[in-house]
Amino acid sequence: MNIVVIGAGYAGMTTALRLNRRHRITVISAESHFTERVRLHEYVAGRPSVSTPLAKLTRGTGIELVTGRVTELDLKAKTVRIAGGREVPYDTLVYALGSRTDMSLPGVAEHTYTVERASELRGRLQAGGGNLVVVGGGLTGIEMATELAERHPSWSVGLVASSTVGAGLSDKGRKHIAGAMERLGVTMHEDTRVESVDEGVLHTNRGHISADVIVWAASFTVPAVAAEAGLAVDKKGRARVDGTLRSVSHPDVYVVGDAGAVEVPGAGISRMSCAIGMPIAAHAADVINARAAGRKAQDFRFRYIIQCISLGRRDGVIQMVRGDDSPTERVLTGRSAAWVKEQICRFAFGSLGGERRLRGSYMWLKGPRRGAGRPTTHGETAPASAGR
Ligand SMILES: Cc1cc2nc3c(=O)[nH]c(=O)nc-3n(C[C@H](O)[C@H](O)[C@H](O)COP(=O)(O)OP(=O)(O)OC[C@H]3O[C@@H](n4cnc5c(N)ncnc54)[C@H](O)[C@@H]3O)c2cc1C
Repeated sequence: MNIVVIGAGYAGMTTALRLNRRHRITVISAESHFTERVRLHEYVAGRPSVSTPLAKLTRGTGIELVTGRVTELDLKAKTVRIAGGREVPYDTLVYALGSRTDMSLPGVAEHTYTVERASELRGRLQAGGGNLVVVGGGLTGIEMATELAERHPSWSVGLVASSTVGAGLSDKGRKHIAGAMERLGVTMHEDTRVESVDEGVLHTNRGHISADVIVWAASFTVPAVAAEAGLAVDKKGRARVDGTLRSVSHPDVYVVGDAGAVEVPGAGISRMSCAIGMPIAAHAADVINARAAGRKAQDFRFRYIIQCISLGRRDGVIQMVRGDDSPTERVLTGRSAAWVKEQICRFAFGSLGGERRLRGSYMWLKGPRRGAGRPTTHGETAPASAGR
């Protein structure tokens, strides 16, 4: 079978490396390297490198790599079109184009930095100090603000959040984060909703906030490729899939990682994260392998256990969560939390090498079977649906 994987992030690479190598497997990626996206805030702050050549990750597997931006899918003709006009045919498509920072608010694209421009932002911060504001009170904004405050004391750092910073965490988790912000000198602007951005200024419901550098880390969105091609998507543009991670509209397309809206029994739609994106990707490979071998495909099962937040290199919060991803009052903080978070980042990247050497080696905690939990409808707001 001719299997084409589009997108070479954590999800696309997990699926590609776990597929049975008797298939012809092609990975199409906009870049020739893999980026450890979960470390981009570290890279902005000064970590030497977070990228690895894809050729190194696929060495000895027979996986063909094509570098190019996917511009269009023809779901009838079963072809992927790449910038420049090349077309790549498939029997089975694995859609893994992931997510990126949502820049739809007026002025954000023109006047702010996002993790997608990590190198430019890194250079700007190294060029000299001043006043810097991070927008986004979720986990990504918290990690960015604390990392930059710790590594760049010459910059005065602020964090703007439309509600409470770390709103999805427990009281204990939030208190610890507030303490870390104070220790690192980060000024928090909570309940402050940005309405538009101009050069060096945020226009908010509470007035203007000026900054030499604005870092936008508010929320994730997904590429429009799926919706434009006519793949069934939810209100947020994430592809709708069945229990075996197959598109509900096109059974020869599987969707993995942030790009897919996967219903997790009892926990709503999958949170955009590696935490569930990699299990989804591994399971999709198992399903494709099973079906190709004439075996019955199993539904995806998963259980959330923790959320991990770094607060610079020496502090963090490991938030224990229930199966539906809601926080309990159990948290691990401080150096041990920073250590756990570091091990998880290593595991996420290291498991790609693990799959290369031993297919099927990636494992995760399985939750209840479908039908066992609270029913949800695609597109509705469910507790676990937002990006981290
Ligand atoms: C700073 C930061 C910290 C994070 N920390 C954590 C964490 O601690 N824990 C956690 O679980 N999650 C974390 N996340 C979220 C996590 O990074 C994502 O959920 C994860 O990367 C999703 O994996 P993916 O493979 O679906 O998508 P991505 O990693 O986004 O990969 C998608 C790939 O597709 C490529 N692509 C996109 N469009 C095209 C196109 N048109 N043509 C060709 N290629 C294309 C991209 O270049 C990319 O290589 C963090 C995110 C950020 C930004």
